[in-house]
Amino acid sequence: PETQAPLLRISALTKRFGGFTALDNVSVDIRPGERFGLIGPNGSGKTTLINCISGAFRTEAGTVMFRDEDITRLQPHMRTRRGIARSFQIPRPFKSMTVAENLMVALDFAAVTGEIVSAAQRRDTMMSILTRMGLASKANVSATKLSQVELRKMELARAMATHPKLLISDEAMAGLSSSEVDEVLDLLMSLAGQDITIIMIEHIMQAVMRFSDRVMCLDAGRIIAIGTPTEVMANQRVQEAYLGT
Ligand code: ADP
Repeated sequence: PETQAPLLRISALTKRFGGFTALDNVSVDIRPGERFGLIGPNGSGKTTLINCISGAFRTEAGTVMFRDEDITRLQPHMRTRRGIARSFQIPRPFKSMTVAENLMVALDFAAVTGEIVSAAQRRDTMMSILTRMGLASKANVSATKLSQVELRKMELARAMATHPKLLISDEAMAGLSSSEVDEVLDLLMSLAGQDITIIMIEHIMQAVMRFSDRVMCLDAGRIIAIGTPTEVMANQRVQEAYLGT
């Protein structure tokens, strides 16, 4: 419902690089459980916005509230512990390690200091995530042996290992075949729900359309449209922004 408190509230966010304004007074609320698509032509500010949410960038002005807490000044790893997951914020996967070992690194990364969890519990958690991600049979396989689509799933599994409330999927489908795109899309749809809100940045419009409850389109650091996928795709400014690139 509209009255529900937002999970993420971005207010009047501005980010500059020198004299260049990459994000210009962006405000948006993302609701709990929402499937939120973020689109815009190259250079429109999508990655910058995600960096401001994950904490990789400091902002010049504006605030980021997550679950009613002002996280504007929090370090990235503290945001991970609050429940914001962007897969490559976790230390990069080690190719020489198995899928299971890679997941263990992510589990440790997100673990709250002082929390005591037995090895058996950790293994159970890891296996349940791998099962959910369709990777259980790959647990003991070296990451070097994975296909492209399996690697993308492992990255998402690593993000899931941090127990996110907000999962940011940053072009998880780029370069995949259309059947693989569907596979990753189905996986993301199955993860989304009351407990997990997903922001998906994607260039593949069919995927954004199918996935999103709402879509937001950025252009030159500003929100030019926000609404249902149908509304946003029909928006003239959106069409012009894409034609102009
Ligand atoms: P998108 O993800 O939509 O392609 P970005 O957020 O990566 O766009 O970039 C938005 C604008 O900000 C671009 O013009 C880009 O060149 C600029 N930009 C992004 N990151 C930096 C940076 N670290 N230093 C300077 N300029 C940057």
